[in-house]
Amino acid sequence: MKGRMIPQASVASAEHDEFKRMFSLLVALVTAAFTALFDLSAVFGLFWLSPVIFTANLVSMSVSIATATLLHVRPQWSKALAWVAAGNAYLLFLIALYTMPGDELRYVWFFTHAGSTFLLLGSRAGWATLAVTATIVVASRIAGLVVLSDNALPTFCFGLVAIGALYQCYNVRTAAFLRRIELGRNQLEYAASHDGLTGLLNRPAFMDRGCEVLSAAESAMQPVSLLFIDVDRFKTINDRHGHKGGDDTLVAVASAIASAVRADDVVARIGGEEIVVLLPDTDAADAFAMAEHLRGTVEAARPVVAGHVLSVTASIGWATNGPSAYSIEALLAEADEAMYRAKQSGRNRVEPRLAAGLVELVRRSRGLSDAPGLQPADDEVRDHRTAVSS
Ligand code: GH3
Ligand code: MG
Ligand code: MG
Repeated sequence: MKGRMIPQASVASAEHDEFKRMFSLLVALVTAAFTALFDLSAVFGLFWLSPVIFTANLVSMSVSIATATLLHVRPQWSKALAWVAAGNAYLLFLIALYTMPGDELRYVWFFTHAGSTFLLLGSRAGWATLAVTATIVVASRIAGLVVLSDNALPTFCFGLVAIGALYQCYNVRTAAFLRRIELGRNQLEYAASHDGLTGLLNRPAFMDRGCEVLSAAESAMQPVSLLFIDVDRFKTINDRHGHKGGDDTLVAVASAIASAVRADDVVARIGGEEIVVLLPDTDAADAFAMAEHLRGTVEAARPVVAGHVLSVTASIGWATNGPSAYSIEALLAEADEAMYRAKQSGRNRVEPRLAAGLVELVRRSRGLSDAPGLQPADDEVRDHRTAVSS
């Protein structure tokens, strides 16, 4: 949240998981449809099915329908259900292998199943299934349990390897493709929510994040503070050192601020040389301390621009939310107004947007009877007792 984070793609994308869930559903539905088709064809006398495979079809159909239903209502079980869908179909083909000797093309089903396994369970599971299939068929042939000619056996085994290689390529390409899509989307999201120069959040992203922080704080009855930081006489830096020098200064100031805040604080560049920091769970007294700390941080940054060590200062205005938490827009406007007063009071200062009573409390709690820049706003009407007492 604080600094520049290069977007990455995670290998297992949500899209890939959803694709696998839909494919498991398809496998379960196709298995249910084909088992029904075979049994119905046998019932209507279109061809002969062994009693074992007829019953196996019924069981397999029930399992498929249950799997499809669960995939729909319990998507979080998708991984386990993919194994059930693939295992259910595979078991059926093995039963057909042994109980339908009159059907010399039953081996075809192992090829259709290979594709499902690679797509559903991944390449490793795919190759393992193919190896088990080849072993079972070769062993069954040696044991005389199945009939396969001398030519058909190697054709079957080579066919399995070929289909495995095809699906392996497909899986590798698909994974690379999905990774590229995800990376592109992450980069787009990053570009849309971050400032290109400093890598901080931009204004729209800050406003979104600010709404979340404020509503969470409202539920937890916690104070939230906002610091509005404006670099002093920045135009002069531009004039003296050029636009590039100004940019380098901004990057240095932004980086110093981002390094000085806490992990949960939200830092954003919302304008040319305007940086804001949202401080969750921070009352007025702590906000004042943080504002002072950041003012000192900017002053101490002393960025080196084109060989020149620059003295940069900033004016900081801050505001703390009230008991009836108000909007991020209101908090920002109040901190901005306080910052404006910091400018008017001489720059390189910290100014609060507080009720007079609260200023006194902050002074006492910090032992800062003459704290520079700690002035009440004349027209403050809001009740900040919650922020002070927390
Ligand atoms: P003050 O102390 O009153 O804030 O004076 P200032 O000069 O900092 O304030 P002002 O708002 O007049 O000037 C801000 C300048 O920042 C004007 C603008 O050209 C410059 N600026 C805005 N965005 C950028 C940027 O991305 N890069 C650079 N180099 N300059 C920028
Ligand atoms: Mg300025
Ligand atoms: Mg400004």
